[in-house]
Parts: sequence; C-alpha cells; structure tokens
Amino acid sequence: MGEFELIRRYFQHGLQRREIALGNGDDCALLAPAAGQRLAVSTDMLVEGRHFLSTVDPEALGHKALAVNLSDLAAMGAEPLAFTLALALPRADARWLEGFSRGLLALADAHECVLMGGDTTAGPLNICITVFGQVPQAQALRRDAAVAGDDIWVSGSLGEARLALEVFRGTLHLDTSDFVAARARMERPSPRIALGMALRGIAHAAADISDGLLGDLGHILTASRVGAVLETAWLLDTSLHRTLSAYLSTDEVLSRLYPWVLTGGDDYELVFTAPASGREAVLAAGRQAHVALTRIGRISATPALVMLDPQQQPLPPSTVAQWRGFDHFSSVP
Ligand code: ADP
Ligand code: MG
Repeated sequence: MGEFELIRRYFQHGLQRREIALGNGDDCALLAPAAGQRLAVSTDMLVEGRHFLSTVDPEALGHKALAVNLSDLAAMGAEPLAFTLALALPRADARWLEGFSRGLLALADAHECVLMGGDTTAGPLNICITVFGQVPQAQALRRDAAVAGDDIWVSGSLGEARLALEVFRGTLHLDTSDFVAARARMERPSPRIALGMALRGIAHAAADISDGLLGDLGHILTASRVGAVLETAWLLDTSLHRTLSAYLSTDEVLSRLYPWVLTGGDDYELVFTAPASGREAVLAAGRQAHVALTRIGRISATPALVMLDPQQQPLPPSTVAQWRGFDHFSSVP
C-alpha cells in the first residue's frame, strides 16, 4: 500500500462543514471561520513509550490522540472546526490503521471536526494532531482571566485515569468492572467541549486538566497573578474515594486519594473560575452539558496556594509541595 492509497483509504474524511472551504487533497486546506470569531489553534503530540504503550488498542489510541487536542479547545470555550494529522508509522499495518482511523474519525464525527489534511511518513510511531476551533471574540476562556474572589470549579471526576495506570504498574488490584471503568477513563477521555462552550460569558479563566489539577490550576494562578484557597473535604465525596475504599484501609485510601485526585493527570476535565454571582449560571451550564461540577475553592489576591483540611485549617506547605503537578521533564537529569 503506497502513501496516497493509505491516506485515501484511512484518512479521507467524508465529513464537511461550511467553515472548511477546502479539505484535504490540495497543497493546503482552506478555513473560513464565521464572522466575529477568533480561530483557536492547539497542537498535541503523542509519542510511543512516553504517552502510550505499543500494546494499546489502536482504536482507543485514535480516540485519545484527538480527544487530548479537543480538550484544549474545550478549555478555551471553542467550538471544534477541523484538525490536521501528522503521522509517522513504522509500517503500513492495515489492521492497526483500520482501528486507529475508526477511533479517530468516530470522535471527529461526534464533534463535527473535519480531518482537513496532514502528513504521513515512515518512522517510529508518533502522532501529532493540530486542532482548529472558533470562539466569539472576547469570549475565549483565557488562563490569565481569573479574578480575586472568583469561585474555582472542576468538572466530572478526577484521578480515575491514574487508577488504571497504577493497575498496569502492578501497585493496585481492582475487580474487573472497576478496572474496565478506570481504563476507559485513561484510554477514552471525553473532551468537555459542550461544557466549555456553555461557560462562554460565564466563566473567567479555564484550563483542561492534563497534567493534574494542581499543576493546571497553577497555570491559571501564574497567568492571572493570583493565588487560591482550596478546600479538600470534597475529595472524600469523589468516585475515586468510593472505589479505593472498597479495596484499601482508610490510611491507604487517604495516602493515594490526595495525590491521585490533585496531581494524577490524564483527566481531561476542566478547571475554571467564575464570579460567585454566577453560581446559578455555572450550575445551569453543567446541566446543559450533562457534566457534574464541584466548587473546590476560591481565587485570592495573595499569589500563593493554600489548602484547607476538612476542619478548614491550612495544610502545611510541605504537604502541598509533595502534590505538585506532573512535569514531563522532572525525570530528565
Ligand atoms: P505535500 O507533498 O504537500 O506534503 P502530501 O503528499 O504529504 O502533501 O499529502 C497529500 C495530501 O494528503 C495533502 O492534502 C495532505 O494534507 C493530505 N494528507 C497527508 N497525510 C494525511 C493524513 N495523515 N491525514 C489526512 N490527510 C493527509
Ligand atoms: Mg507531506
């Protein structure tokens, strides 16, 4: 199978939408965002051995490669339009390509996001996707827009992808149904596009949680030059707490619950801030997007992160420091 046959067979996307004036097949695709809209652009690369294992189901990999990119659009409040796919493949394996493109294009169809071009080459497996979305001018959910006094919210549930990772690492055992659920969170994240769009004009700042809640909230705090006071009582009301409690002693549960919810990573939920006067509107946006929302703290003018124990007492900074967000280069000497 030659390069062009491969592209035609697996990456020719039937989907069309009016903002894509010209799709793949020419030297460039042509994009025509609607009047008054800003183009939102983001790239994410997935490298074998770093972001996924060679044994991963190709269909799940296709889904995840696009999902992590769509998650960035969600965090901006943008509506997906299109994406490009740059793919390095060790070999043209029809079974792998068929699964990968099925997972990829099913999620693309679900979000009406057109595969409008790309590049295909031989090499170590590497998947690079660039997504393009649109968001009305002045409604983008920027990281630098948090204001002292804002509530801090998170969507969905955190730490479950990490649960699956620990099972793969052999540090935790789960029964089949719990493992299947955790693995789905790790391999098939649901980008919170509907929520991001519903939060336009309501939320101030937002980020998606790819590297852990504390790390990604930290990006908002730094960009907005503010701090935060975070509650922790809500951690005891998470689905991760319920799952862990079925397998471990109370002490073991707590020693995993905090770091996994706060810094586990790979969650692809949204963390966002909104004025306290907008609480009803935030909750309505969650209902509209069918996503549970939890209010976890508030933005403070002092640029520091303070965490409160369930008795509202500040936790020692050394404890909080242990829960830093995952950093891809922290293990590089
Ligand atoms: P160029 O010579 O400009 O690099 P290519 O020969 O690589 O173009 O690609 C031919 C066409 O196929 C282009 O329109 C390109 O966008 C598209 N294409 C290449 N690889 C992919 C892919 N993996 N997915 C979707 N479209 C692709
Ligand atoms: Mg090319």
